[in-house]
Amino acid sequence: MVRYYKKSLGQHFLIDKNIAKKIIKYARISENDIVWEIGPGSGILTEQIIKNCNKLIAFEIDKQWFDFLKDKFTDPKLHLINQDILKVNFTNYAKHEKVKVVANLPYHITSPVIFKLIENRELFSSITIMIQDEVADRIIAKPGCKDYGRLPIKVQFYFEVKKLFTIPPHLFKPKPKVTSAVIQLIPKDEIPKIKNDELLWNIIDYTFQHRRKMLRTSLRTYLDKQDYQVLIENSTKSQIDLSRRPEELGIEEFIFLTELVR
Ligand code: SAM
Repeated sequence: MVRYYKKSLGQHFLIDKNIAKKIIKYARISENDIVWEIGPGSGILTEQIIKNCNKLIAFEIDKQWFDFLKDKFTDPKLHLINQDILKVNFTNYAKHEKVKVVANLPYHITSPVIFKLIENRELFSSITIMIQDEVADRIIAKPGCKDYGRLPIKVQFYFEVKKLFTIPPHLFKPKPKVTSAVIQLIPKDEIPKIKNDELLWNIIDYTFQHRRKMLRTSLRTYLDKQDYQVLIENSTKSQIDLSRRPEELGIEEFIFLTELVR
């Protein structure tokens, strides 16, 4: 049967088994592990994961590749789910044990998937994912870099992040235009306490929507007049410099700023 590669679903399949093995080695999957794979496709990672894990739940949106995998793998360790990962209710699949996530992510939904993984971070002990190299560099960016923004701030707040290695386009079929990279996210044991995390992430989102504007300017439209006035007075007292742009602030300063706004 002829199977098609759907560009709209980010179907660039890895064709190098050694790279698949290398990813699994970095993910340190062992016989007791529960693993989730996002987008198993033609199963090159799936095959290596099954060899090493206790149970694998693999979420594939495309019915043709889902059927292909059902025929290819008969191992009872594998539970294939034909669903859009962005619509999956993770708590339906999570039990007591923490899960290791492994994936060669469809590039068009990298950010929403990562944000969903962050929202559900208590479920995971590690996340080893292949993404575009450019996005990997963005995720590890520090304050002051042009790539710094809400994605790296959020990922780095909750996880230790490591870029592991890059993979050139010719090791995929069909060949993508860009280089890929594997990164690993390990949940941090200790996360700074935030009194109002919704407000913190709202301020980060809002100020980065106006990343070239000074904080003082964008916060003027974010807050009502009276609150803005109080913020300005408090910022002078506490010596936080609101003439800077959001990309110059580390997360601790955003937390401090949130306290002032509160
Ligand atoms: N894991 C395979 C590999 O490494 O060769 C395939 C990776 S390919 C880059 C991405 C896979 O994710 C494809 O199989 C695609 O059909 C699947 N996919 C795309 N969007 C998805 C979604 N929203 N939910 C689940 N799977 C998705």
